[in-house]
Amino acid sequence: RKTENQLLVIFGASGDLTARKLVPALYKLYKDKHLPEHFAVLGVARSFMTDEEFRKRVALESKYLDDSEEFIATFSEKLFYEDLHKKYDVDYRELNERIQDLNTTYQCDNNIIFYLSTPPSLFEAIAKNLTAKGLNDERLGWKRLIVEKPFGYSLETAKSLNDGLHRYFKESQIYRIDHYLGKETVQNILVTRFANSIFEPLWNRDYIHHVEITNAESGGVESRGGYYDKSGALRDMFQSHLLQLVALIVMEPPLSANPEEIRNEKMKALKSLRLMTDPKVLEENTIRGQYLASEIEGEKVKGYREEVDVDPDSTTETYAAVKFYVDNWRWADVPFYVRTAKRMPTKVTEVVIHFKSPHHQIFKNSDMNKDNKLIIRIQPDEGILVKFGVKVPGQGFAVERGNLDFYYESLGDESHIMEAYERLLLDAMQGDATLYARADEVEAAWRFTDPILDHWKKGDAKIYGYSAGVWGPQHADELIEGKSMWRNPCEN
Ligand code: NAP
Repeated sequence: RKTENQLLVIFGASGDLTARKLVPALYKLYKDKHLPEHFAVLGVARSFMTDEEFRKRVALESKYLDDSEEFIATFSEKLFYEDLHKKYDVDYRELNERIQDLNTTYQCDNNIIFYLSTPPSLFEAIAKNLTAKGLNDERLGWKRLIVEKPFGYSLETAKSLNDGLHRYFKESQIYRIDHYLGKETVQNILVTRFANSIFEPLWNRDYIHHVEITNAESGGVESRGGYYDKSGALRDMFQSHLLQLVALIVMEPPLSANPEEIRNEKMKALKSLRLMTDPKVLEENTIRGQYLASEIEGEKVKGYREEVDVDPDSTTETYAAVKFYVDNWRWADVPFYVRTAKRMPTKVTEVVIHFKSPHHQIFKNSDMNKDNKLIIRIQPDEGILVKFGVKVPGQGFAVERGNLDFYYESLGDESHIMEAYERLLLDAMQGDATLYARADEVEAAWRFTDPILDHWKKGDAKIYGYSAGVWGPQHADELIEGKSMWRNPCEN
């Protein structure tokens, strides 16, 4: 795809995300020659800053010590800043004049991306004020809107955000960012499934026993207590990133790699998740927990309720585990187990496809632990592992576990692996929405998550405490049926 000349306008540009992720991603794209010949970046926020102060704030010189100051300056000269005086909901007359000026000076061909890196409560007002100045009009050049997460707090708020944006921009102009989808291994789920003939024939209820997804953070909430206490593990990770992973695992093969074909199949997958509404089913299939004050390797760590900006009586979960089913032909009766938590033994995200045991066991020492597994490691050490049984050398037929693995780092030169924000920004610049969530997908994910949140809000659902550095409350083991257990991702 071609990257056309364009202007990128970032709202909330005085914030952390712009300096830490967005401008560095743009710089890397520039360095790797992915940006078009003519482009400019305009940061916008309430705080006052000159162009020069904005360039200093993003501090590229201190991040890229190997690059010459002259080279960095060739990029920095394309960065500009415009303040909105006091608030985002104002007449954008001055902003529009600056946009038109940059568009003409830098020959951006009237193609503009508006990146909303502000709290979501401001999205609609920004879209409305841009529209009042005709900045959603695509007659002379395309206009796109990238919006940051969180996209809603519930189904109702997500719908209202979607409705608010749709008043001013068409769905085809809106790109909802989920940085998980920018990760190489997440995209590799599609390639593993649909570019190989060895996995897809087995990708169904006849061969798969269960599917497990773990997203673990070793840290606590750190400085994000205020945000996290209103959100919790289910909203922060499960509704967005983890259900997107589920959709990629569950979806049917799309007709082509066209963005709409892929998103249609993801949407169908999300719609087929069996909603849990019965309190008894919710009680049995969901578990929440909170980390307690404890010690990790001799060091004391605070319990969640003692963290800064967290309510001492908080019922917000730092651990969530959900068991559910997918009601369609391919996945009937296959349980899915998804857990996400803070203060776990390690930082890891992985998908584990557990295959069924052979129908007839002729080697008597086989057990569930030795069944075939396909592990898709999202982070760290991105890669794919296949676990299979091999004969122990020597007499008899003792079976032990063998591994076939592929790690991205084994490719040697990692410089071509794009950071999630680089990949996603470049896709939006090229008009490719494959890795962005569509309105209906986001709503379907909330439709599934809302009843769990409602059940937990009623307060009769238990909150289990767990010590820092363990794999969550013991009770979570009971969620898994039969002889199986959660896989310990530290074990290779
Ligand atoms: P931030 O620093 O809190 O906010 C970005 C800018 O928005 C601020 O510099 C501020 O600019 C403006 N702002 C903040 N609160 C406001 C309010 N109540 N009313 C009006 N303006 C306000 O956020 P960030 O870390 O850059 O992240 C930007 C967005 O991305 C957020 O919506 C966040 O949820 C999302 N996000 C961030 C991360 C991350 O890693 N940081 C990850 C995922 C998603 P002015 O005061 O100068 O206008």
